[in-house]
Amino acid sequence: MSTIKIHDKQFKLSIPQEDIEKEIIRVSEAINRDYKGKRPILLGVLNGCFMFASKLMQHLTIECEISFVKLSSYQGTATTGVIKEVIGLSESLTGRDVIIVEDIVDTGLTMQRMMESLGTREPASIEIASLFLKPERLQVPVNVKYSAFTIPDRFIVGYGLDYDGLGRNLPNIYDVVE
Ligand code: 5GP
Repeated sequence: MSTIKIHDKQFKLSIPQEDIEKEIIRVSEAINRDYKGKRPILLGVLNGCFMFASKLMQHLTIECEISFVKLSSYQGTATTGVIKEVIGLSESLTGRDVIIVEDIVDTGLTMQRMMESLGTREPASIEIASLFLKPERLQVPVNVKYSAFTIPDRFIVGYGLDYDGLGRNLPNIYDVVE
């Protein structure tokens, strides 16, 4: 299906599953090369990462572990605004090579917060693997070492990404029709 409706919006087919997975395999191969002889821990950021994390793991041939975290948002003071806290992490990261697995980096604020929070746990290294990156939207300097796709400023759904709770199950990526 090339056009779909989710809630009040129309979306059109943008990236078919086959093309998404080709790029994820490319990212897996880069990680296999860069982490040869190491044992990284992948940290998936729920909910959006689940399809990307699954496909990425299937193509990792190095020894590796995976765990998942969530970001909880709560209202801080007037100056701090909404604060995001990393929850659900029970593993020690001391001396570990961490790879954050994210669905999409937009403003970069979420990843900046994750890096700050995980950085206090004394890991040996932290890198980011994101399925999508919107470079035009970045508000803070975030180094996304592994990105499957660089996309323009547009809203997408599918392959784990939602529009107001729906669309995560779509195997392809769809762009919103304005
Ligand atoms: P950031 O903190 O980088 O601005 O936001 C990252 C989060 O915003 C992503 O994890 C995702 O939940 C959401 N997001 C940003 N852009 C999109 C998009 O185009 N589509 C969807 N479905 N979510 C997005």
